[in-house]
Amino acid sequence: MIIVMENGATDAQIDGVVHKIKEFGLDANVSRGTERTVIGAIGDERKLDQEMIDALPGVENSMHIVKPYKIVAREWHKQNTVIDIKGVPLGGNQIQIIGGPCSVETPEQMEDSARFVKEAGCRLMRGGAFKPRTSPYTFQGKGVEGLDLFRKAADKYDLPIVTELMDVRMLDTFLEYDVDVIQIGTRNMQNFDLLKEVGRINKPVILKRGMSATISEWLMSAEYIAAGGNHNIIFCERGIRTYETYYRNVLDVTAVPVLKKETHLPVIIDPSHAGGKAWMVPALSRAAIAAGADGLLVEMHPKPCEAWCDADQALNPDELKALMAELKGIASVIGRSI
Ligand code: PEP
Ligand code: MN
Repeated sequence: MIIVMENGATDAQIDGVVHKIKEFGLDANVSRGTERTVIGAIGDERKLDQEMIDALPGVENSMHIVKPYKIVAREWHKQNTVIDIKGVPLGGNQIQIIGGPCSVETPEQMEDSARFVKEAGCRLMRGGAFKPRTSPYTFQGKGVEGLDLFRKAADKYDLPIVTELMDVRMLDTFLEYDVDVIQIGTRNMQNFDLLKEVGRINKPVILKRGMSATISEWLMSAEYIAAGGNHNIIFCERGIRTYETYYRNVLDVTAVPVLKKETHLPVIIDPSHAGGKAWMVPALSRAAIAAGADGLLVEMHPKPCEAWCDADQALNPDELKALMAELKGIASVIGRSI
């Protein structure tokens, strides 16, 4: 059972509910979100007297959630959650295209990238300072220096930044650089210790789908973050691994309507790591927006053939601009804006 507290419920009221749950012989998980505190009662729910819980001060309502994921489930939160990223809304009517290079390389590359991303009309920028690479002998990212380069370039154009956290030991550094959105990559979707740690802060988190993860595993990973109190979670489908070798991954567009049904949280698509080739990105992006995605995470490089990482899939600045124009048309047909 989950108990949703009123907006502004006091600590004493929250403690009162926890105390009552324990009196019934169950355990309680308190998830203090920025807007709502949600308390999960863990154990044999038949022992709980729901009417008694509902009558406690500060309780808005309580409900039995059948799904194993609770806080992220749409069951208790019918309306879409809109996440505020430094004033940029994600999950509402306006679709957000997050553009930028695969990795942070040089000050010039970041300055050009930020300018082109802004010129194209994107409101958020991506870029990796810590890169999960298949080979230990390839470029691993600029590290902290990369965060610094990214922050400076993006600030100049007033763009909030999205960047991947691979190691929990870097979390404090990410907070020092005031990273606006923390990306958890496909390879870390089930790194539960990492999920628990980003659950303790309130920065928005983009949770990429594990390349072999089922939808329910993905939802449970998000629940790890939510259980800690961070309800600012954005799901990102980035393609799954199948027997097909023509493209890098298979973009699972089906995941969009399914997640929209199962969760109140925003859902975005990464068409770049799905197709793995720049020429596929426009078609996959169109499909994503038409299917109801709340945004895209797109790789763009000022000079794709010089990119240090994922050169094949990076759009050039003109291609990003053209894509934005095309997507605006699709958005307006489905009653949304970009
Ligand atoms: C990325 O977005 O740079 C990235 C490494 O993506 P993924 O985790 O989906 O492979
Ligand atoms: Mn990449």
